[in-house]
Amino acid sequence: MTFTQEAMHFINGEFTPGTSGRTFDNISPVTGRKIGIVHEGLQPEVDAAVKAARAALHGEWGYLPMAHRAEMLHAVADEINRRFDDFLEAEILDTGKPKGLASHVDIPRGAANFKIFADLVKNVPTESFMLDTPDGFGAVNYGVRKPKGVIAVISPWNLPLLLMTWKVGPALASGNTVIVKPSEETPLTTTLLGEVMNTVGIPKGVFNVVHGFGPDSAGAYLTAHPDVDAITFTGETRTGEIIMQSAAKGLRQVSMECGGKNAGIVFADCDMDKAIEGTLRSAFANCGQVCLGTERVYVERPIFDEFVSRLKQGVEMMKLGPSEDPETSMGPLISQEHKSKVMSYYKLAVEEGATVVIGGGEPEMPDELKGGAWVEPTIFTGLSEDARCIKEEIFGPVCHIAPFDTEEEVIKLANDTKYGLATAIWTENLTKAHRVARQIDVGLAWVNSWFLRDLRTAFGGSKHSGIGREGGVHGLEFYSELTNVCVKL
Ligand code: NAD
Repeated sequence: MTFTQEAMHFINGEFTPGTSGRTFDNISPVTGRKIGIVHEGLQPEVDAAVKAARAALHGEWGYLPMAHRAEMLHAVADEINRRFDDFLEAEILDTGKPKGLASHVDIPRGAANFKIFADLVKNVPTESFMLDTPDGFGAVNYGVRKPKGVIAVISPWNLPLLLMTWKVGPALASGNTVIVKPSEETPLTTTLLGEVMNTVGIPKGVFNVVHGFGPDSAGAYLTAHPDVDAITFTGETRTGEIIMQSAAKGLRQVSMECGGKNAGIVFADCDMDKAIEGTLRSAFANCGQVCLGTERVYVERPIFDEFVSRLKQGVEMMKLGPSEDPETSMGPLISQEHKSKVMSYYKLAVEEGATVVIGGGEPEMPDELKGGAWVEPTIFTGLSEDARCIKEEIFGPVCHIAPFDTEEEVIKLANDTKYGLATAIWTENLTKAHRVARQIDVGLAWVNSWFLRDLRTAFGGSKHSGIGREGGVHGLEFYSELTNVCVKL
């Protein structure tokens, strides 16, 4: 069997089914059919992976000069690119996302995450201070960055390779060892990365993978493991809360990248073509399953009707279909379970008084795709600001559009949420853009763009959207311990 048919754990440089004897099915979101099995890890598999990671920290990996470590991570990126088609196939099998999207975003960014952080560690300075002392000779202080240790990486299913390597890249660049627990929905690209690590010669135990679920399974056992030094998590806010409780024992540090209910703000002086194109992407890319996606769109009243009508036209042009079809602009949701959740919000929106501009139901698909998790891309208007569909993250291909009259009003509306991840502001008046961007309570504010990422910059959310920032030097701060050395002269 190939790794796509049977996903195994990767522990201490070896693929293993583990000893739990438990497996679960990997189901295609496109057809609903079984495409393989995944071995489920429990306490023994987690123990073995943590032990391997701890040993590797004190082995060859721990003594590698930084430049050599960075070279190895470049080699990992090169090997991902060399096996681009394998990664593409695995990612598409798991997620059903359009091939164009995975080949332009998920796989290249998955590889880039190793290069960018390998280069960064070599170039980021640490602080140093001269201190005056009464004897006049003084003292010099300087910081030394050291690996934090064994890092647990808990990743989600929406951008599986990209979001996992976004954490593994800086963790390894900083000299740590990792155990990844990928989402149970998307085990394949993480498994394949194990092969890459062996090909490149990354020492055994540096990169480990244990498959499984969250509660009473690999995720819970890993995050509760006392020999894990820090936990980096991307996923739902309520899962983050549970993981924080585990991390409290032993005062282990957490980095949390969680949910969002992001606002798009469209001013009447925007470039309408750009605002429509950007909002179509931000609301519907990856079938709306992007944490940074726009589920609330606020449009200045003079252009409200035109905006709604043009966004609707954009949605009418979208073609749902299988990944390989070059015409496909949208794939299915990740699973039947997630489809039920999204469909329940479509129903709720109508009960809460929404007007359905387009969509709101299940699309008619050809027979071979009928078992997939398909939903229609949907636009609502007319909801009141306290509706649950305005307050709760839906994580599907849906947005609600509401009019606003003043800058002050729209800032208040955008901030009236428990989340604080991202916003996209559309205006040709750059003074206004700067003024508004800094007043939105989010970690990421885009002006006249969306998801345009410079990996050297901070990434993360405020309020219920997360704790801490990763990206650039911020990632290195989480993944390393700083020792201040004070030398009396
Ligand atoms: P999820 O929280 O259900 O699962 C994420 C991971 O946590 C999975 O690997 C899962 O198995 C694991 N997990 C679940 N319960 C656990 C537990 N008790 N202990 C340990 N691990 C556990 O999230 P999801 O459905 O995979 O992803 C979608 C969510 O992720 C959305 O809310 C989205 O906004 C968020 N997200 C945030 C970002 C960001 O950068 N802020 C990026 C992508 C996705």
